[in-house]
Amino acid sequence: MMNLQLNDPSLLIDRILVNGDWQNTSNTFAVDNPATEKVIAHVASAGAQEPEAAVAAAAEALLGWKQRTAKERANLMRRWFELMMENQEDLSRILTAEQGKVLAEARGEIAYGASYIEWFAEEAKRVYGDTIPEPAKDRRIVVIKQPVGVVACITPWNFPNAMLTRKIAPALAAGCTVVCKPASATPLSAFALAKLSQQAGIPKGVINMVTGPSSKIGPVLTSHPAIRKVTFTGSTKVGKSLVAQCATTMKKTSMELGGNAPFIVFEDANLDAAIDGLMFSKYRNSGQTCVCVNRVLVQDGIYQVFVEKLVAAVTARLKLGNGTEKNVTMGPLISEKAAVGVDRLVQDSVAQGARIAIGGRRSNLGSCFYEPTVLVDVDNDMPVAREEVFGPIAPIIRFRAEEEAIRIANDTQVGLASYFYTRDIGRVWRVSEGLEYGIVGINEGAISNEMAPFGGVKESGSGREGSKYGILDYLEIKSLCMGGI
Ligand code: NAP
Repeated sequence: MMNLQLNDPSLLIDRILVNGDWQNTSNTFAVDNPATEKVIAHVASAGAQEPEAAVAAAAEALLGWKQRTAKERANLMRRWFELMMENQEDLSRILTAEQGKVLAEARGEIAYGASYIEWFAEEAKRVYGDTIPEPAKDRRIVVIKQPVGVVACITPWNFPNAMLTRKIAPALAAGCTVVCKPASATPLSAFALAKLSQQAGIPKGVINMVTGPSSKIGPVLTSHPAIRKVTFTGSTKVGKSLVAQCATTMKKTSMELGGNAPFIVFEDANLDAAIDGLMFSKYRNSGQTCVCVNRVLVQDGIYQVFVEKLVAAVTARLKLGNGTEKNVTMGPLISEKAAVGVDRLVQDSVAQGARIAIGGRRSNLGSCFYEPTVLVDVDNDMPVAREEVFGPIAPIIRFRAEEEAIRIANDTQVGLASYFYTRDIGRVWRVSEGLEYGIVGINEGAISNEMAPFGGVKESGSGREGSKYGILDYLEIKSLCMGGI
């Protein structure tokens, strides 16, 4: 394994976690650093047998975990949160090495990921039931909420830490146990997180982690009768296939899928604030977040000046490079394949009439790097507007009227995050209500934290993570009807 100069080198783990044991397997796969293209570790690759064992361990551990009081679970989770923050620097180094985002962003992700554990440790104690009036005089109805059971968590590579904690934290708080399958590109952050859960005293079998080919692990998780829920963050295509697989055993599902976020700038907006919001929401994580701006809609009268300001900001504020280097503000994409795909979207759109204002090509820093890009003269039918870009490309579309902006914004099959900038209070309400999205940023580019519900509509999925609503996805409602009173 590569030396990542960690304060606690034992956090760098290359084995899977089943029933509290870190296990080797007969096969391994390489995890590399997208900035340097060097191998960090060869990680254990599970077949079908290890996920079966992990599910059995989670089912066994469920019996004890769900019977603990909410306060006991909360105290263990609180300790886990503290350990994450105490080890923030090591967790960030592992994250940057395998994922590529700059170290400052990795630190932010660890704090963000930890905040879900802190929040749901608190929410564990607030799983309230109801008493309901009964039509008959001698009966009463009481509603209790219980954990759904063993949960499978399948997560992507773009937030290797936070996408896991957003699932594991509400699951554990509710009294569920989990089998996690982190993305193959970024398993090391997941293992380090699990190691800290052991140090916090979370019992064996409550959290299991298996890595390897999704073709072997996926079918076990979607068909095993002991798994009662599958929670997934990833692409819409894979999400649809998982929901179909889960239908055969009627598992509950939560799906956090892809987006195509519009960012609308009206003529009355504070343009400098809009530029700041766009720079954050477009280029962080090199454009690889599900809530990243995908289309920038700018009103006619300010189009030219806005483009000039954006190009100036990209030139002044973004420095591409290895995320561990000082002054670097944007890292590589996750893989060479991703860089090739982003370039294809750009070149296909240019062939259809878009113009490159800045960037528009792969960088010579390495095969995974793509230059921050602004495209102008884009229309909503071009590939860069139709597809989820997942790269540092800002395609600018011109509009004239408010209704036209809402129509263009909603002209997509997905609906996760959206943003708009205006200082007109009437417009704030009209546009907020008109946008078919689960999340709306109003004069704000940073829209996610543990206290706000996160999730999409249309083909962006179902369920909500974070907030007081997040734990409901991991609870069953049981109605108790008492007679003879
Ligand atoms: P992905 O290809 O769908 O993969 C996500 C996870 O699913 C990975 O662990 C992957 O494993 C696994 N997987 C792939 N095919 C599978 C199958 N047939 N059965 C079971 N598991 C399977 O997505 P990605 O490229 O990693 O992530 C990017 C996508 O995630 C984007 O669309 C983005 O918008 C979305 N996303 C959504 C949110 C949200 O909250 N809505 C947040 C972040 C990202 P392998 O790695 O082994 O292939």
